[in-house]
Amino acid sequence: MIAGTATGILIPRLERRRTHKGRLLGLRLIHTHLRDEELSREDLTDLSKLRLDMVCALTVRENGDADKLFRAHLDVDERGASTWKVMVPVAAAAAPDIVFDAFVRELEGRISAGQGLRSVAEAADRAILIMVDSSGTAGREADLKEFEELAAAAGVSVAEVVVQRRPKPDPKYIVGKGKLEEIQIKALSMEANLLVFEKELSPSQSKIITAMVDMRVIDRTQLILDIFARRARTREGKIQVELAQLKYNMPRLVGGNPALSRLAGGIGTRGPGETKLEIDRRRAQERISRLEKDIADISRKRRITRIRRSRNRVPVISIVGYTNTGKSTLLNTLTRSEVMAADMPFATLDPSSKRLRFPRDLEVVVTDTVGFIRDLPSDLKTAFMATLEELAEADLLLEVVDLGDPDMEARMTAVHEILKGLDLADKPRMKVFNKLDKADEDVAWNLPRRYDGVAISALDRDTLGPLIEKIQDYFVKRNS
Ligand code: GDP
Ligand code: MG
Repeated sequence: MIAGTATGILIPRLERRRTHKGRLLGLRLIHTHLRDEELSREDLTDLSKLRLDMVCALTVRENGDADKLFRAHLDVDERGASTWKVMVPVAAAAAPDIVFDAFVRELEGRISAGQGLRSVAEAADRAILIMVDSSGTAGREADLKEFEELAAAAGVSVAEVVVQRRPKPDPKYIVGKGKLEEIQIKALSMEANLLVFEKELSPSQSKIITAMVDMRVIDRTQLILDIFARRARTREGKIQVELAQLKYNMPRLVGGNPALSRLAGGIGTRGPGETKLEIDRRRAQERISRLEKDIADISRKRRITRIRRSRNRVPVISIVGYTNTGKSTLLNTLTRSEVMAADMPFATLDPSSKRLRFPRDLEVVVTDTVGFIRDLPSDLKTAFMATLEELAEADLLLEVVDLGDPDMEARMTAVHEILKGLDLADKPRMKVFNKLDKADEDVAWNLPRRYDGVAISALDRDTLGPLIEKIQDYFVKRNS
């Protein structure tokens, strides 16, 4: 029995006593609504969140007598997805229309059976992606597509995508408060455990939203960091990614943030390699100092090993370029290997190296890299650069450009800038214009000439002749 105020009641923390998935909490919430109101959104949220057996609202007449009884319970739909049902209101004074024990037993049976239908990998995060569209222009379409691709690359399974049109993002909740409540109920019914915002969240937005929705909440930046964490290979790369994560997350982890207790693993909490992201603020600060010191040590040592390694070894060709331009496909076709190529950014799970033998008795190693990404948040630059660290070892860079990309020229400039930032501007580089099969004939003819590159279709081995020829020439000339 809980006494509330005229505006609400505070439900104490309820231990989940029944852990089996199909089971409900074993408690009904019956409360009064002082005005003649049906079940509110908060009532339904409590129902889903607490997995109550039932939520009931009793309205009261002027004279204090009970009036109507509103009820709702959880259920499953025909596809086995969780949902809730609002029952037809009854007069409170009428005889009960259900035998509650039997009703709940049957309900739990239905829910467990429904959940059996679900074959989604339980371990994977299920997310709702949230984007605000203030422009109404086509640019947001591309942003949305990229956002979805990033989520896929991070291993998130997307339960739903919500795009809200509004003149500008809400300063507190990004989407409106009502919309966020709606999303939360949706998340509960779809068993999503993660909200991903396309917009970068300020620390205070992150806290406000997390406190409200009671789930993990991350933004695009954290999503990208998570991808980097999975892809970082070199020791320095891993450290840089972890540093970037710690620095980005720390202001979002100030004491008392309920997000802390929810950082149990999964997207947004994955450190590079074996490390789990530190979550305590003081420990995070210590870890940052430690990592910064390690970085300094590493770069000192690296200069030495790099010099030692550069002689008498098989030449290395590294494939660089924006995500989704066809780098992995090219590596596959070139070497007939089976690096995963997929229509998503960073599809290269474990950026791999393959050997390639040329007709004229030349052997090289070809490596694939993490792709570049548009609008990379500036906090992530160093971490991103670190994932490209091993490019320093390459003898030749193949820069893959998508002929069908309207931003092609701007991206070539951006690639150049990034390479400059890595001190690699002078590294021999060959432009490879890909997706010839989709390209405009004029463009496909002109661009390679203008940039001294070759046009190919990475999907079609027969188009690779000129590229192989050109690579071979390069090494023959260099070695003579
Ligand atoms: P990466 O991110 O640069 O490694 O790109 P992927 O190799 O994963 O390729 C991205 C997408 O582009 C995949 O769906 C490929 O099938 C597709 N793709 C790659 N090369 C070509 C090509 O020559 N022509 C066409 N039409 N599609 C291609
Ligand atoms: Mg790839």
